[in-house]
This record gives sequence, C-alpha cells and structure tokens, in this order.
Amino acid sequence: MPKKGHIPERTCIVCRKKLPKKELLRLCVKGNQIILDRSQKEGGRGAYFCVECFSKIKNLKVWRKLFRALRVKK
Ligand SMILES: [Zn+2]
Repeated sequence: MPKKGHIPERTCIVCRKKLPKKELLRLCVKGNQIILDRSQKEGGRGAYFCVECFSKIKNLKVWRKLFRALRVKK
C-alpha cells in the first residue's frame, strides 16, 4: 500500500534520475508543437526533464532523446 502523502515520481528522460513530479519540467506535444507544460495537466505524450538537463536542452543529444520520448517524426 502506498503511504499517505506519497509523492509521484517521474524519470528525467535525459539522465534517468527519479525526482518528484513537481521538481521536473514537463514538455508535451500539442498539435505539432512542443510546449512547456507548466500545469503538468496537458494531455498527450509528455517528457520530463530535471532542471539540470533542461538547461542543456539546446544540446543536440538532448533533443534527440526528447524526440524519441515524444515520438515526434522529423
Ligand atoms: Zn536530468
């Protein structure tokens, strides 16, 4: 049984670190755009980033991982 007040964890798609959801940034696909889902309530496929990896988002390797996670065809 999960404890009361259990914090949902998500895995950063880049470094695979597990962190509480609220400490991660969520990107999701909306239409044909990738948006930052600040409320974490957007539907659709999403990908989580820790703050550290999010700061490296301009890095091509990070983008590749993001596209793979979101299954965006490029
Ligand atoms: Zn990370």
